[in-house]
Amino acid sequence: MRNCDRCGSRLPENSQRCPLCDSMTENEREVYRTSSKIIFASVFAITVLHALFYIFNCSYEIMRILTVGESYRPPSVFIEFTHNKLFLNVTTVIIMYGLLPAAFMSYNLIILARDRSKFLIFFPICGIAAEAAQLAQQCSSYDLAIQEKMSYLYAIIAMDVLSALLITGFFAVMIRFILRGYSISQSRWLIVAGFVFVFARVLIKFTLYDDNGIAPNFSELKGYLLFSATLLNVKKRLITSKTL
Ligand SMILES: [Zn+2]
Repeated sequence: MRNCDRCGSRLPENSQRCPLCDSMTENEREVYRTSSKIIFASVFAITVLHALFYIFNCSYEIMRILTVGESYRPPSVFIEFTHNKLFLNVTTVIIMYGLLPAAFMSYNLIILARDRSKFLIFFPICGIAAEAAQLAQQCSSYDLAIQEKMSYLYAIIAMDVLSALLITGFFAVMIRFILRGYSISQSRWLIVAGFVFVFARVLIKFTLYDDNGIAPNFSELKGYLLFSATLLNVKKRLITSKTL
């Protein structure tokens, strides 16, 4: 015979939750705690690997801009496909490939160390800055494309702008969640948004471009959107599991 340890009512055999107050049984609580730890550890490991990949990629990109200089272009088949003569300058490369990966790594470490921290917003702010820097420096190229009526570029420009807006919106919501103390249900929506976005980019890449290697252009898939949202969610689950 077992009784609920919250309200004291009698529990039916094989019942995992109290029928009266819906409280977990000790056994169920233990399973939730253990699984939360395992899930957090796995997601953390994958996300840190992801961040390391970006940081590695960053040193490669910065070496490239230092070597190639003015003729440096984004490492993308996208550019070849569109015959788009866009150049990246040092500032943009440093923000996109240096500051953003570093902020992403710091985000992982802060989330590991602290239950809740407003410093987490440093990462989404850098994400918005990276999008803004990228758009700002491409504005003159867009302007040229429109003036010379290169209509084959219009769809590409629209996609670039839409993508930047969606990412900015995603990060704005993330900032709001972090400042207000995120909950599991809130961060679940972020995961869904991140997944849709990253998956759409993967699909576009596979269907539109004849791309042999996904790894060199991995950072363009913006996987950090999905990983950062998932990490936020599993950390919240870990915190909740301790207070059951
Ligand atoms: Zn109960």
